[in-house]
Amino acid sequence: MPMSASYKKRLSHVLPQIVNTFGTPFHIYDEKGIRQTCSTLTTAFENIDGFKEFFAVKALPNPSIMKIVQKMGFGFDCSSTPEIQLSRQIGSFKDDIMFTSNNTSPSQFKTALENGGCILNLDDISLISKLTDIPDLICFRYNPGPRRNGNKIIGNPVESKYGVGHDQIIDAYSKSLKLGVKRFGIHTMLASNELNYEYMVETTRMLLDMVELICEKLNITFEFINIGGGLGIPYTPDAKPFDLDSMANETTRLFKQFKKINGWVPRLYMESGRYITGPHGVLVTSVINHKNTYRKYVGVDASMSALMRPGMYDAYHHIHIHGKKNSAPLEKVDVVGALCENIDKFAIQRELPDTIEGDILVIHDTGAHGHAMGFNYNGHLRPKELLLREDSSIELIRRAETMDDYFTTLNFEPKVLAFEEI
Ligand SMILES: *Cc1c(COP(=O)(O)O)cnc(C)c1O
Repeated sequence: MPMSASYKKRLSHVLPQIVNTFGTPFHIYDEKGIRQTCSTLTTAFENIDGFKEFFAVKALPNPSIMKIVQKMGFGFDCSSTPEIQLSRQIGSFKDDIMFTSNNTSPSQFKTALENGGCILNLDDISLISKLTDIPDLICFRYNPGPRRNGNKIIGNPVESKYGVGHDQIIDAYSKSLKLGVKRFGIHTMLASNELNYEYMVETTRMLLDMVELICEKLNITFEFINIGGGLGIPYTPDAKPFDLDSMANETTRLFKQFKKINGWVPRLYMESGRYITGPHGVLVTSVINHKNTYRKYVGVDASMSALMRPGMYDAYHHIHIHGKKNSAPLEKVDVVGALCENIDKFAIQRELPDTIEGDILVIHDTGAHGHAMGFNYNGHLRPKELLLREDSSIELIRRAETMDDYFTTLNFEPKVLAFEEI
């Protein structure tokens, strides 16, 4: 079930005024829905001591949204310097930031270690010796290789560039121990948009097994395991929602079992992005053209610059037309943007009610990996972002890109490297 009935009802009520005031296209997010999901997640895992979610900033890197999840007690999972800076700007530091990078440059580590540092999640054994400061706490991203299957978005673990291999993992911790690291964590991220909760339970079991193995070999303990993000959301109307309660129950059981056997237990960390904000955002766009050639096309005023997922992953995003009854006559259409790329389509051969120019399309589930993934190819600019507050007010939380933004990187001090003619 895409976009919740509650959000649809609250948004539909005021949508024409929002369109009049702000103009299309825009993404609009639902504070109430985001807060509800945050508290559902926290409640589900409340029986695991020290459970903590680090919101994956890349899913929706907007400070207004980040402040909402910060208030709900979440930290942030960052993968780049700007994402770390965003988190610090809103007042999250140290153990509230997990830095999960890969192919990391020295300058990224430098920023990560400034300002009180953060939790370093290293992607490779070779990176330990590249740190200028040895932090108190180190985490490694574990890649189980052929021991697990991944999924379409992340790829198979053996082919994936992420993480420390199985045969290197003991070495990685032993090397850190020798360098003076005192606190340890272990992380993995194997699947994205996974709707099968058992996959996530299996990941927890795998990491707890690894913790037992490493502790036995090196006589250390672990402060936490981080099972990554990847909890899925139902994009299509017939998909079943992720069974969070079953995941939480079985995960809690695994933690109790670990404690019984070992006398201690690590904390559980998670870094979901999509699950937290995905269903609570929509892309609102106006119909500007109709075209009837070999297929019928509905042209809208948004393009791939606002939402890459359909073009990039063949992803389905549900669409409804504001104010149209379900009983309206349907026609099979492609909903398209204006890029000179034939993958710039929000829907392909979709049955939608007849539209006229000026009709408003609502494209569901754009609250994660939506605006954030947009690009400027073909000179298309990214749209604005709005927030439907819990008090029903509407706030502009990012303006649309302008031509000036597009030209900014062309305004610079001239620099030429000249050579004598050979
Ligand atoms: C992308 C990413 C996430 C978030 O993934 P979701 O599928 O949005 O939950 C978490 N951790 C890492 C390391 C990632 O790369």
